[in-house]
Amino acid sequence: MGGWPSTPCIEKGCSFCCRSTEMPLSKSDVSRLVVITGLEPNSFSHVIDGVRILLNRSETKACVFLDTDSKDENAPGICSVYEHRPIGCQSYPLILNDEDEAFLDDLCPHREAFPEAPPALLLMLRQLDAEIQGQS
Ligand code: SF4
Ligand code: SF4
Repeated sequence: MGGWPSTPCIEKGCSFCCRSTEMPLSKSDVSRLVVITGLEPNSFSHVIDGVRILLNRSETKACVFLDTDSKDENAPGICSVYEHRPIGCQSYPLILNDEDEAFLDDLCPHREAFPEAPPALLLMLRQLDAEIQGQS
């Protein structure tokens, strides 16, 4: 799979974007996570306005796949499905605006430490966006 050539996430001990997540999932994300985890889709996601979105744990308010006991949004945490994480998680903090232009989300506290986004990553993000738009 594609993705960033390097990220500051682990070095910075950051899991901010895995908390109170509203990450939309593609069909291939859901299929892959079902195979890898053995879970039913409704165990890790729910559907809002026709789009399947990752669930958060009520105790931590963090993604169900984040290994953490803390609800502190600045606490570290490791993704338990990292190699198979959703496309939107792979491409974040690169996101699209209403004009379909890619930019780094201001909410990522370490966005300036990311390298230039490779074209394959942008393509992946646009394909995800097209699929999600088709569902909603
Ligand atoms: S918020 Fe940014 S730095 Fe933190 S885990 Fe997410 S992408 Fe990485
Ligand atoms: S799947 Fe992994 S990377 Fe994506 S929000 Fe959940 S814990 Fe974070």
